[in-house]
Amino acid sequence: MINAQLAAKSHPHHQTIVNISKKVACGGTDLVIIGGPCTVESTEQMETVAQTLAAGPIQALRGGVYKPRTSPYAFQGMGEEGLEILARVRSRHDIPVVTEVMSISQIELIAAHTDMLQVGSRNMQNFDLLKALGQAGKPILLKRGLAATIEEFVMAAEYILSHGNPDVILCERGIRSFDNYTRNVLDLGAVAALKQITHLPVIVDPSHAVGKRELVAPVTRAAVACGADGLIIECHPEPEKSVSDARQALSLEDMVNLVHSLKPVAAAVGRNISETIGAGLKSAPVCLVA
Ligand code: PEP
Ligand code: MN
Repeated sequence: MINAQLAAKSHPHHQTIVNISKKVACGGTDLVIIGGPCTVESTEQMETVAQTLAAGPIQALRGGVYKPRTSPYAFQGMGEEGLEILARVRSRHDIPVVTEVMSISQIELIAAHTDMLQVGSRNMQNFDLLKALGQAGKPILLKRGLAATIEEFVMAAEYILSHGNPDVILCERGIRSFDNYTRNVLDLGAVAALKQITHLPVIVDPSHAVGKRELVAPVTRAAVACGADGLIIECHPEPEKSVSDARQALSLEDMVNLVHSLKPVAAAVGRNISETIGAGLKSAPVCLVA
């Protein structure tokens, strides 16, 4: 029995809907599909991503600007400059954006520029960060820790809820196991379990789960079939040139094709993929400088 007083489902129809923006909500009939690169690299990159994906249709953009890299010598993200790129793309395309927060000191700035703050796997049990996110005033996308049990995952969400933020989306992104052919092992049993024991929306990150682009589409369809409320998928205009996680990045074309292939699967489990978001630009295209 998990002692999650706030995260626990109190009756079978108890379901939280998290409003990511005025137009995009997670936890209802519509799936939320979040797409974009692992790392924000340039204005041009994010413009290309937004233009292609908004018509996709996808409902939100992702892109890391503070990156938790295994090596301290690897690119650590564009920081504030990257946040400004995200904010411009967000307003020009009228599409919500999500990015990772790694420390308490970044919360205010990220919350001012984006619609949702992601807690990465490596920070799932950074309890001070979780407590501070209780006051972030924006929804939190909480990723499952690299080797976290379902109970630890739910209790991490409980930290954010109990510190004042009711808008938490859980994200299964694969866990460590003995086999490294896939980067991690996607735990779809956890998705089904989390949907039964909590009222929070549950989304799946197939990219970090499998780590290889050719495996992303089939597990994404399986995630939708087993009840995920949404997806977060890495894609890039030139996947093999991605500064991080290149091996798992889809091309934008493959991303769009994948979203279309999800429609019958979504329909089979009573879900819908909304066509209305991001239908056009809000202002004339800017002159892009590489
Ligand atoms: C990411 O989303 O780019 C990321 C680092 O994910 P995770 O925390 O799941 O490894
Ligand atoms: Mn990544």
